[in-house]
Amino acid sequence: MVLEARGRLHREGRSTDRSRVTVFNKEERMARPVVNQDLCVGCRLCEAACPQVFAVNSDEKCELIGPDKCGTCDCQQAIDGCPAQAISWAD
Ligand code: SF4
Repeated sequence: MVLEARGRLHREGRSTDRSRVTVFNKEERMARPVVNQDLCVGCRLCEAACPQVFAVNSDEKCELIGPDKCGTCDCQQAIDGCPAQAISWAD
């Protein structure tokens, strides 16, 4: 079963070689935050942490205004500080 899965991943071009795992920094992986507005409670902590990236709209929901504009905290501060866990990295 494992061999079948590995064969399928190989055919799909997806490596199963764990020794080849690469760690990317923000620029290399082009990571962008995403906000789940259903979870957002409008506390504005993300806006305070990354005002270039997040803004709370008139519906008290966070919006991304510049997902690639963070130059201060790599958006990790906003992700870690969100009390609703509404912010994550996009896949
Ligand atoms: S920190 Fe989280 S809950 Fe607060 S406004 Fe930002 S996304 Fe919404």
